[in-house]
Amino acid sequence: MKKSKKISPSRILLATPHLSGREAKFVAEAFRTNWIAPLGPQVDAFEREFAAKVGSAHAAALSSGTAALHLALVLLGVQAGDEVICSTFTFSASINVIVYQQATPVLVDSDRGTWNLDPNLLEAELRACRDRNRLPKAVIVVHLYGQSADLDPIVALCREYQVPLVEDAAEALGATYRGRSVGTFGRLGAFSFNGNKIITTSGGGMLVSDEGDLIARARFLATQARDPAPHYEHSVIGYNYRLSNVLAGIGRGQLGVLDQRVEEKRRIFDFYRQAFQEEPGIEFMPEASYGRSTRWLTCILVDPEKFGADREDVRVHLDRNNIEARPLWKPMHLQPVFAGCRCRGGAVAEDLFARGLCLPSGTNLTREDLARVAQAVLATPRR
Ligand SMILES: *Cc1c(COP(=O)(O)O)cnc(C)c1O
Repeated sequence: MKKSKKISPSRILLATPHLSGREAKFVAEAFRTNWIAPLGPQVDAFEREFAAKVGSAHAAALSSGTAALHLALVLLGVQAGDEVICSTFTFSASINVIVYQQATPVLVDSDRGTWNLDPNLLEAELRACRDRNRLPKAVIVVHLYGQSADLDPIVALCREYQVPLVEDAAEALGATYRGRSVGTFGRLGAFSFNGNKIITTSGGGMLVSDEGDLIARARFLATQARDPAPHYEHSVIGYNYRLSNVLAGIGRGQLGVLDQRVEEKRRIFDFYRQAFQEEPGIEFMPEASYGRSTRWLTCILVDPEKFGADREDVRVHLDRNNIEARPLWKPMHLQPVFAGCRCRGGAVAEDLFARGLCLPSGTNLTREDLARVAQAVLATPRR
């Protein structure tokens, strides 16, 4: 008997870079003018264009989103012995930067309706901090999976307690809160251009603020903190955190298609929602009425009772079908490295992690790719 060779379809990844075709022109400009340096006209233009796009007065292009968050804490004077509040439901980079400064992370749970920082728990934590006579040096609010946290009450609380707010908007470029871009509500906002983010420079980040002196200081610290002198003179510790002029060229090309990418991401979400509408065991990340999500990644919650299989069953079944899917972020208070951190609440983040899955959401996926993913999810063996 002739054995038929099974051809396995190519692997569908979670999200991969999607070039617009406009990047090469800017990169070629950098090459032609020999600006192959961590500064230059592409960097200047990218900063200007980015600041205008999000509606911030100033922006500094940096080597990563993590570098942007780290510099935000340095600029706010966070140091050893300080506490900094951050969401427990996030990616580790949000709170690693607190530890880089030898400060102590204080974790706060998310709320069900937004999956982001719960303002009520934040208030309870700030009150407890004040009663203890030890207010945090900063609050970091994270906007996960393309959706803004509920900023009005969070901004009001930070004002009331006089604690500066930093926004980790790494996953939410293009998202708005009451019509305004995330990242522009706190004293400082951080964005990422890592390879899987909505736009990419292969690696990079941006720090924004309406305070020009903060951003000027960020640029100074990011280029090794060289004091003005003909020789190399240093009076503070610096960092090598600037974005390359070549990569800024990629960023300019990508920024031009950001709005288009948001629309495509939202269409991908709609496709999945339609595909699973008959499935009571599958829920989607809610979109809060105060803003517009980019749906950076389509996130689902699998109810094992109703669906007859759990999140891990679905993920493994997709993997067997050559499709990459990833559990939602494992909360920081469950991470071995942060096990000792104080955490207010935590059950919401734990439940999201237990049941949540990110589906392939790359804007370069075809309708056929998306259909293959949806079919594979529904074909997961049920109990
Ligand atoms: C990606 C990400 C970061 C870090 O950005 P990099 O550019 O990869 O350093 C920080 N916070 C969150 C929530 C992220 O998703």
